[in-house]
Amino acid sequence: MEAVVETTGGAFPAHTYLLDSNNLVAYVKVNETVPFYFKNPIKGFDKRGRKFVPGNNTLFTLKKETHGRTVIGSSGQTYTVTEESCSCPGFTYRGTCKHMGQHG
Ligand SMILES: [Zn+2]
Repeated sequence: MEAVVETTGGAFPAHTYLLDSNNLVAYVKVNETVPFYFKNPIKGFDKRGRKFVPGNNTLFTLKKETHGRTVIGSSGQTYTVTEESCSCPGFTYRGTCKHMGQHG
C-alpha cells in the first residue's frame, strides 16, 4: 500500500492518505499521528485535480485493532500506548512508564 500526502492546498488539508491502488484505506490528519481506518475502504479515490507527494508509510503501522495511540519517544521512536500497556522498553522493564499518563 502507498502513503501519500496531499499538497493541493486551498480547501484540501495536507492529510496523509493510505491507498490500496485506487482505494482509500485510512488517513492521518495533519499534525496527528494516529490513523483513522475506514470500516470499508473507499473505492475509487479520485486524485484528479489534486496534488500528492509520497508520504510516510510508517504512520500506518498502528493497526486499528489496538485502540492505542502512538507517542513519540525521546529518541524519536514511536510507541503504541493503550489503557493497559505501552510498547516502549521502560514499560517492558517496569510495568509502567511516562507515556501511560499521555494516554487520552
Ligand atoms: Zn512508554
